[in-house]
Amino acid sequence: MNKHGMLIILSGPSGSGKGTIVRQLLQERDDTVLSVSATTRSPRCDEQEGVHYYFKTHSEFKELIKQDALLEYAEYNGNYYGTPEEPIRQHLLEGKNVILEIEVQGAERIMNYRSDLVTIFITIPTMNELERRLHERGSECEDTICKRMEIARRELSRAFRYDYVVLNDEVPLAVQRINTIINAESMRYSRMENYILEVVNNA
Ligand code: 5GP
Repeated sequence: MNKHGMLIILSGPSGSGKGTIVRQLLQERDDTVLSVSATTRSPRCDEQEGVHYYFKTHSEFKELIKQDALLEYAEYNGNYYGTPEEPIRQHLLEGKNVILEIEVQGAERIMNYRSDLVTIFITIPTMNELERRLHERGSECEDTICKRMEIARRELSRAFRYDYVVLNDEVPLAVQRINTIINAESMRYSRMENYILEVVNNA
């Protein structure tokens, strides 16, 4: 049966471990892909064009907005981030689940006009733990870490908009929890309706 993929939004404060969780999840699931966002932020030393992000200048990003090529976009800590729409449409048609690893403003924009989403908020055990992880990552200066902590507090206060909250106390456990959500969501009646109709029609 040709099944449509699910659009899965994964948000959570910077340092909550979303990136690590997603990488692990993708290794375990060949039915799921990650959407590659466009951003005006400069690449970190280990980041590659087209793999982690499409790195854009401000004017290139504005052009994407003008062409209506983004499913959503938001400003985060002085930079723009946005989700290219066309690759997502293609993956969903091919039956692949697509994960959007995006911050809450952009996520809420999509939630406001689409009801076919699976939305997951990743949380950390404590704010101290979040600060420790941001320092451990070593990719940002003190000022950026302070700003990210402030944004994290605001983001946590929007967790109520999401279908699920997953605690990232240990990465393998968090991955297992998300796998459980994806598996259960794929069996919702609304997603199995065509299957049932096919069974009935071929009886
Ligand atoms: P970072 O600079 O750490 O890679 O990302 C900063 C924040 O932007 C993270 O919360 C990340 O999930 C979010 N982000 C990444 N891509 C997008 C996107 O396309 N749209 C939105 N709204 N947020 C994004």
